[in-house]
Amino acid sequence: MVYNEPIFLEPNYKERIWGGTKLKEIFNYPIPSNQTGEAWCISGHSNGPSLIKNGPLKGLSLAEAWNHHRELFAHEKGEEFPLLIKILDSKKDLSVQVHPDDTYAREVEGENYGKTECWYIIDCEEDSEIIFGHHAEDAEELAFMANNGEWNNLLRRVKVKPGDFYYVPSGTIHAIGSGIQILETQQSSDITYRVYDYDRVGQDGKKRELHLEQSLEVTNTPHEDPELSSIRNHYNSLNEEQLIEEEYFSVYKWDLDGVCKDLSLNSYLLISVIEGNGEVATKEGPYKFKKGDHFIVPATVTTFDLLGNASLIVSNSNQNIEQRSHAHVEERVRSLETI
Ligand code: ZN
Repeated sequence: MVYNEPIFLEPNYKERIWGGTKLKEIFNYPIPSNQTGEAWCISGHSNGPSLIKNGPLKGLSLAEAWNHHRELFAHEKGEEFPLLIKILDSKKDLSVQVHPDDTYAREVEGENYGKTECWYIIDCEEDSEIIFGHHAEDAEELAFMANNGEWNNLLRRVKVKPGDFYYVPSGTIHAIGSGIQILETQQSSDITYRVYDYDRVGQDGKKRELHLEQSLEVTNTPHEDPELSSIRNHYNSLNEEQLIEEEYFSVYKWDLDGVCKDLSLNSYLLISVIEGNGEVATKEGPYKFKKGDHFIVPATVTTFDLLGNASLIVSNSNQNIEQRSHAHVEERVRSLETI
């Protein structure tokens, strides 16, 4: 099969006690209730699979495409599609949590991947806050403060604004505060250890379960703010900001204003439209996209054009070491320079 078109995906929605209605208000998603917290937009995970909306594989799940058409993904290795793209709406505070790394996830949970994630803040209320890291000097102090409920002294609060980006490696204590909408790029994992839940009770009148023992085992001490790349490129009608390049993924923000021809790939790209609209054109023809759409440009599409007026969050997997994004970015830059 010569597959020469973008793969558009249908999100999967999750009701959460902290969720709201912004996924409908901002993206016009058909959310199941007024407490919808998450859209799993590009997902091969069995807990929330996204379905293919167009083309020869229409109706299949992304996981099925991954399992049976690996050429679309540059023959990347791995049992599961490696990345998961979500949009979250926190009407209320999320619980304070931490995720394990790959080794812990495999050995303790029997899962393929740990969870390193990153957040692009799409919008938020003024003075919104996240919890990002902690103030303990070492594991002993972390355990002492956690066991004694010294949460105000332990947790590190950071104010956020639209357009901010946070890289949250596994082992980082974190929580999204109320009033924030983020696009999350993460390893495809659903393992969360709840550290603290503000002593809230659920609908059943009980406090939600905590996982303090596992949390203390996987949390990095002391907390260190990760370094972010801030590489910016400008080509004709495309502004690129590289948000992060790390072990599992690279993430970019592309601001498109006009026509950008002959983008070339040697792997596959995940694209989420967070603002505006436009078209992605391959040999197969043009495909319209609008705010809230998510699509994959498969590795079998060797060149494509973008046109329109839009902000896109773009990512690729770095799972195939020999196809680390350097090569493909360089390739892409080369093609852009020849315009
Ligand atoms: Zn998380």
